[in-house]
Amino acid sequence: MTDPTSQHGDASPDSSPALPGCFDDLGLAVSTDEPLACHTWLGIGGAARFFCEPVDVGALTKIVRRCHQLSMPLRVIGGGSNVLIDSAGFDGMVVRLTGPEFCEIRVDGSAILAGGGAKLVHVVTAAVQAGLTGLETLVGIPGTIGGALVGNAGGRAGDISQHVREVTVLTRTGELDVRSGSDLSFASRWSNLDDTIILSCRLELEEEPAETLTKRMQKQWIMERADQPSGVRTVAMMFKDPPGSTAESLISQAAAKECAVGNAAVVSSHANFVVTKPQCSSDDVRSLLEQVRSRVRDRLSVDLEPQIEVW
Ligand SMILES: Cc1cc2nc3c(=O)[nH]c(=O)nc-3n(C[C@H](O)[C@H](O)[C@H](O)COP(=O)(O)OP(=O)(O)OC[C@H]3O[C@@H](n4cnc5c(N)ncnc54)[C@H](O)[C@@H]3O)c2cc1C
Repeated sequence: MTDPTSQHGDASPDSSPALPGCFDDLGLAVSTDEPLACHTWLGIGGAARFFCEPVDVGALTKIVRRCHQLSMPLRVIGGGSNVLIDSAGFDGMVVRLTGPEFCEIRVDGSAILAGGGAKLVHVVTAAVQAGLTGLETLVGIPGTIGGALVGNAGGRAGDISQHVREVTVLTRTGELDVRSGSDLSFASRWSNLDDTIILSCRLELEEEPAETLTKRMQKQWIMERADQPSGVRTVAMMFKDPPGSTAESLISQAAAKECAVGNAAVVSSHANFVVTKPQCSSDDVRSLLEQVRSRVRDRLSVDLEPQIEVW
C-alpha cells in the first residue's frame, strides 16, 4: 500500500505546503516549530513543523485524517531512543502519545493490555508484579510499547514479538484496525507495523510466582545495564546484530571502536553505541555511522544494517 503520509515513504517537504493554521479548526493544541532534540536520547536535531500530544484516540484520529487530506508526512515519536533527527528538522506533523488513554497498562488474567505510549519498563514491572512471566528479559530496553513493537525490541534472551497476540492500530488514513495472527509479522528488529500508529496491544504471558520473577528481573537488569554505556544519557545503538554475530564484536574486530566525527564518538567500552557531546550535529552522527559501517565492510566484508532510524 502506498500512502502519502506513510512514515517510510514520506512526501517531500515541497509536496506538503504547510498551510499556516491548517489544524486550527480542529480545536486541538497543535504547536509549531517544536524542538525535537529534547524528545530524543541523542538530544540533537531540528524542530517539527507541527507537533501534537493528542489527549485521546478521537483527537489523534482528527490529526491523522487532516494530515492524510493535506498529504502531510506524519510520524510518531515514542521514547526517542532509536531516532536521529536531521538538523533541518522534520517538515510535517510529529505526534507523541502521552495522554492517559495511550499509557494505560492493565492485567487481564494471564495477559497484559498496554497502550502504545506506555513505557516498556512500566509494562515489564506491571507483569512481574502480577506474577506473569515473559517480559522480564526486556527490562533495561528504553522506550515505549509502540517503539518496541515497531522494532521488535529484544536481545539474546528473546524479543517482544514472542508474546504479542493482538495489536490495535490506526491506519494512515485514520481507520481503526485490530491485527492478530497472520496479520502480524516480525523479524529481527523489524515488524510490519511500521506503516501504522500503534494504539495498544495484548501480550499473552504465563504465570509464575512474583518473587521468583522479581529476582530474575533484577538479574536481567544488571546484565542489561552492563551491556549499555553508563553515566551518559546522550547515546544510541548504531547497528543491528547480524545473524551469528554481534555488531559490537564486529566493530571491535574492525578497530572502529575509537572512531569519532566532530562531537560524535563511538563508546569504546560499548562499541555499538554512539555518544554525542552538546555541540554535536546530526551530520556528525550520520558521518560517524557511515565511517564505522565502511570500516567493518572493508575489513570484515560484513555490511552492518543501521538500527537507529534517521528522520
Ligand atoms: C541505551 C540503549 C539501549 C538499547 N538497548 C536495546 C536492546 O537491548 N534491544 C533493542 O531491541 N533495542 C535497544 N535499544 C534501541 C531502542 O531502545 C528500541 O528500539 C526501542 O524499542 C525504541 O522505542 P522508542 O519508544 O524509544 O521509539 P522511538 O525511538 O521514539 O521510535 C522508533 C520508531 O518507532 C516508531 N514508533 C514509536 N512509537 C510508535 C507508535 N505508537 N506507533 C507507531 N510507531 C511508533 C517511531 O515512529 C520510529 O519509527 C536501545 C537504545 C538505547 C539508547
